[in-house]
Amino acid sequence: MKEVKSPKKPLIYYYGIVLLVLILFNMIVSPLLMKRQVTEVDYGTFMSMIEEKNIGRVQVEDSQIIFTDKDNTVIYKTGAMDDPGLTERLYNSGATFTRDIEETMSPVLSILLTVILPMLIFFGLGQYMSKKLMEQAGGKNSMAFGMGKSNAKIYVQSTEGIHFSDVAGEDEAKENLAEIVDYLHNPGRYTEAGAAMPKGVLLAGPPGTGKTMLAKAVAGEANVPFFSISGSEFVEMFVGMGASKVRDLFKQAKEKAPCIVFIDEIDAIGKKRDGQLDGNDEREQTLNQLLTEMDGFEGNNGVIILAATNRPESLDPALTRPGRFDRRIPVELPDLKGREAILKVHARKIKAADDVDLHTIARMASGASGAELANIINEAALRAVRNGRVIVNQADLEESIEVVIAGYQKKNALLSDKEKRVVAYHEIGHALVAAMQTNSAPVQKITIIPRTSGALGYTMQVEQGDKYLLTKEEIENKIATYTGGRAAEEIVFDEITTGASNDIEQATKLARAMITRYGMSEEFDMVAMETVNNQYLGGDSSLTCSAETQKEIDKKVVELVKSQHEKARKILSDNREKLDELAMFLYEKETITGEEFMEILNGKDGDKA
Ligand code: ADP
Ligand code: ZN
Repeated sequence: MKEVKSPKKPLIYYYGIVLLVLILFNMIVSPLLMKRQVTEVDYGTFMSMIEEKNIGRVQVEDSQIIFTDKDNTVIYKTGAMDDPGLTERLYNSGATFTRDIEETMSPVLSILLTVILPMLIFFGLGQYMSKKLMEQAGGKNSMAFGMGKSNAKIYVQSTEGIHFSDVAGEDEAKENLAEIVDYLHNPGRYTEAGAAMPKGVLLAGPPGTGKTMLAKAVAGEANVPFFSISGSEFVEMFVGMGASKVRDLFKQAKEKAPCIVFIDEIDAIGKKRDGQLDGNDEREQTLNQLLTEMDGFEGNNGVIILAATNRPESLDPALTRPGRFDRRIPVELPDLKGREAILKVHARKIKAADDVDLHTIARMASGASGAELANIINEAALRAVRNGRVIVNQADLEESIEVVIAGYQKKNALLSDKEKRVVAYHEIGHALVAAMQTNSAPVQKITIIPRTSGALGYTMQVEQGDKYLLTKEEIENKIATYTGGRAAEEIVFDEITTGASNDIEQATKLARAMITRYGMSEEFDMVAMETVNNQYLGGDSSLTCSAETQKEIDKKVVELVKSQHEKARKILSDNREKLDELAMFLYEKETITGEEFMEILNGKDGDKA
């Protein structure tokens, strides 16, 4: 699929259009406006036409006489003369006296109509177009379908389109969508079997996981046109525009069927209509129009609507009920295998050195979305160029993970010596607590170079593979690890800093979830105390219990974190020597790898705990 590009038009092109509009307007429009042209004649002609009884209507004014011929086809005009018998003779010639023969337009009016009006129209149009052009400049090139029409961008078939093979991982989603591709290829088979394709398919998942890509790939595989519009575009600008855009979009789509219509960010129009007072009329009208359109076309007409959202739970039930977006395809964050595959796809674009190991990179970038992974590859290439190379090596990639996830190194941020020591102990505190609990390397790497994101240190966790289940003990260990940083500060410096704020947040979240969502406390057993609202965007949750229970939960959470904090402190005190040794290493080198960490931990006396 290749997007239709609107070629850059030189300015002269637009001036040409201005001229053309002016000429056309004068040739076609203004004669109509001015009705008939007036012919000026001398008084003699007027008199002889009276003689010939060839006057149709006449209008005698103080300074001029306007008249027509018998057939009323031509308007004439002549100056008034002192002609006493004129009225008599006109009457005898059978002329009709009147007061409303269309006069020549006043010169001012005529300039207004022939020059100013077209200019105004043109510049209005010009402004509209330049606005469109600006909008397009930001992103994909596309074609606007003229004034007041929808902004759906049409992508015309071409061989260099996006295919399923370009979308790495996401196998389940692809499998699901393959059926739609098959349907677009031979709809006959489905009709014969009496099966109707879903009209709407909802792609739900966190941002950057390839939803747009998947939609394009469906069109690419099926070799059909692809219309795309963002939900937020429906609700911009003027009232009533949204609904008319929806109408337009569907009109175009039906003409081009079979085709794919992709609505990004559908939650912008499809939010639950929950009767808030500040309800957005425009949004509602647009949504209603969308529902009407979807109901209006029969299944199997070849128009498949794909929509993407990262808050599926906020969609209006009217939108997700059968006959509308009744199929939901989750597009989740990639797992380890998926991440590696995505990295591979994007690494095709760069020249990679022999030492590049994408499996390791995939492991390090746990939790990254497809878009972030693409970004990691790109940052690595940029770093290579900065260092005067064209070949990207492993170090570039590893550094770029940190860049994408933690921000650029802050070269000139100065940590005082004391601060640097605190940070070193803090980070080692986390790592040591983790290592002693699991007896394995807890980290890939720790650095204490400040990042632009504000983090003073950065710890890259090891992840051996994806974990889908966590035991109660594992979660408790995690909480202990989060408290390890602060615990080290307490033990070594006997004072505490603000550096643990993020740890505190994470530890609390986990402890809370254990009690309210995972049923891991004795008191509350398997009762849900909380529901997750927003699974793809941060996952905030709301309590579903009484105020008294809430109090008890809070107490429980504090107890849990406290006991793990105590455990962490004990681990660190018991291993004080190792703690000092490791922290000194990090303090001096500013970076410690997982291997170095384990060497020191198991080193010399080899008393592995
Ligand atoms: P979404 O629509 O889910 O927010 P996009 O489809 O716009 O995400 O993806 C943004 C970019 O991220 C893509 O252009 C692509 O470079 C990259 N990307 C995301 N997911 C994948 C994937 N599964 N395979 C390859 N690239 C991906
Ligand atoms: Zn910390």
